[in-house]
Amino acid sequence: MLTKEILACKICSQAAVGRIVPGEGSGVARVVFVGEAPGKLEAASGRPFIGRSGKLLRSLINSIGLKEEEVFITSAVKYLPTYTTPKLSDIEHGRLHLQKQLKIIKPEVVVLLGSVAAQAVLDEKYFLAKDHGRVIDRDGVKYLLVYHPAAPLHNPKVKPDLEKDFKKLSRLVGRKKLSTD
Ligand code: URA
Repeated sequence: MLTKEILACKICSQAAVGRIVPGEGSGVARVVFVGEAPGKLEAASGRPFIGRSGKLLRSLINSIGLKEEEVFITSAVKYLPTYTTPKLSDIEHGRLHLQKQLKIIKPEVVVLLGSVAAQAVLDEKYFLAKDHGRVIDRDGVKYLLVYHPAAPLHNPKVKPDLEKDFKKLSRLVGRKKLSTD
């Protein structure tokens, strides 16, 4: 399975502080959330988004009627780098893992949490202040650009934007069951 392959990745383990964090959730999810890179708590536990921004992300997911178990939550970079903020080389390496994950899961909607996720997945630069809420259609998959959930923790003014963009996500996925399992 791909998770095992990521856990065994030598490039990730050489660069990582703590554990590699491949992601968690349903392998047949209709919605995948992509963050930036694990923080200290995630690197200590091996689970994505379990800190303060994770709490907000998970409450936003629940607020639109989705269950955490039926989506997939991961990050563009699968480890916490020694220098904390991922460099382009970390993002480019993470892209290889992410592309394989998306190929296997085949989601309808990929929610890109912040500009690092957008760059990792779409290989283009986006500016969330201008681009949040945008939906980009590529090869039958919808990519929704939203602020990273850490953003409102630093700047509470952007929280309504994030909530509004999650309402958009809710409309994109409709009322259908979110995974086939
Ligand atoms: N921020 C991320 O982008 N990913 C995590 O797993 C945790 C915090």
